[in-house]
Amino acid sequence: DPSALLGLDVAAPEPSPEQLLARRDTHFATVQEHYYADPPQIERGWREHLVDTRAQVYVDAVNNVATTGHAHPTLTAAAARQWSLLNTNSRFHYAAAVELAERLAGLAPGGLDQVFLVNSGSEAVDLALRLAMTATGRPRILAAREAYHGWTLASDAITTSLGDNPRALETRPDWVELIDAPNAVRGTHRGPRAAGGYLADLDAQLAGLDTSRLAGVILEPIFGNGGGVLLPDGYLAGVFSRVRALGGVCISDEVQMGYGRLGHHFWGFEQQGAVPDVITVAKAMGNGQPLGAVITTRRIAEAFAAEGSFFSSAGGSPVSSAIGLAVLDVMAAEHLQENAKAVGDSLRAGLEALGSTYDVVGAVHGMGLYLGVELVTDRASFAPATELAERVCEALLDEGCIVQPTGDHKNVLKIKPPLVITAESARFVVSALDRVLARLL
Ligand code: PLP
Repeated sequence: DPSALLGLDVAAPEPSPEQLLARRDTHFATVQEHYYADPPQIERGWREHLVDTRAQVYVDAVNNVATTGHAHPTLTAAAARQWSLLNTNSRFHYAAAVELAERLAGLAPGGLDQVFLVNSGSEAVDLALRLAMTATGRPRILAAREAYHGWTLASDAITTSLGDNPRALETRPDWVELIDAPNAVRGTHRGPRAAGGYLADLDAQLAGLDTSRLAGVILEPIFGNGGGVLLPDGYLAGVFSRVRALGGVCISDEVQMGYGRLGHHFWGFEQQGAVPDVITVAKAMGNGQPLGAVITTRRIAEAFAAEGSFFSSAGGSPVSSAIGLAVLDVMAAEHLQENAKAVGDSLRAGLEALGSTYDVVGAVHGMGLYLGVELVTDRASFAPATELAERVCEALLDEGCIVQPTGDHKNVLKIKPPLVITAESARFVVSALDRVLARLL
């Protein structure tokens, strides 16, 4: 009962599907919900649950933004308090932003103690690229094929995960140098491949480049587009050591999987035993509020500051920063990284167990609450079961579970619920997928 769940009066207005679609007509966004014949319009939520305008309740298994879940009272109180104290910013140091920067620096590896607050992951990536360019005085950036880094012009220029995006390929600026996608499962190199093979290819590629123009490298420390495929052991450290030896800056894009989601680690690069010079973070740190950050070393920050005066008008606003602080408080008080580990491990085991019943479950990728179920038509060839994945997502919606297909072939069910998800809700996700696969196959 959603009313009991939310403690609110949620009388269902029951608009028709046509009315719902017509109402959305002016909301200009290319959200990929086309696999739903009758997409819900979400109106409210509570922890890992969502409620739509028809009072249907769902487990939100796709939300990599919601750390503390939906409508957490601590965040509500922090936002309301800050709003009433001070709700706008311009060019001063604001107490909440300074405190948040200090807390973030404390979470980063030693030496990375400079924090620049922005509004989103794309903005953080753009800034990270600029930092690499200004610190080295060089223009060229290495980025992996099939990665996603954002939608602003610079972050889009290094994004190739959208396989059907010819415009991005045609307009790719000449400062971008693409390296092989470290997807050990599928892609350029079918079948598992060790780091040594990728690194040998990288060496050959670097040998053919004018590396005196190399500003740095940006990588996701876990292959997000494939649904959280872990990089081959030693890959990230191998790339970083090569780029550093050439005088370049190493960027770990933690926007999607960092900040406790992996459970076993706070940052993705820790899983690879590598240390970056620049970290980009967003999504989770604001629980969906416009908030992101770049964390770097004093040397790199100072080179950037020497270029002139830069600021983001709303980046790290007092209210966003207060929410960012409340997110960290809730993470500590409710042990959310530990929850991501415990619930994530059992969720993964449950999803893997489905593989013994259904051959279409080719693999379960990821770690903690950053998981991907790869659906294949044939386990030997790993041919993608794209159409099935769409039907599974549609059927899961009817079961009350929201999951999204990802990957270049949209055949990987991405499962990344809020970090507050309970073991019971995680079991519900597995049982819903079990029911759906039994029905569809
Ligand atoms: N980097 C990575 C790895 C991401 O997954 C995303 C968003 O999905 C971004 C950057 C861009 O973040 P935002 O959507 O906040 O601009």
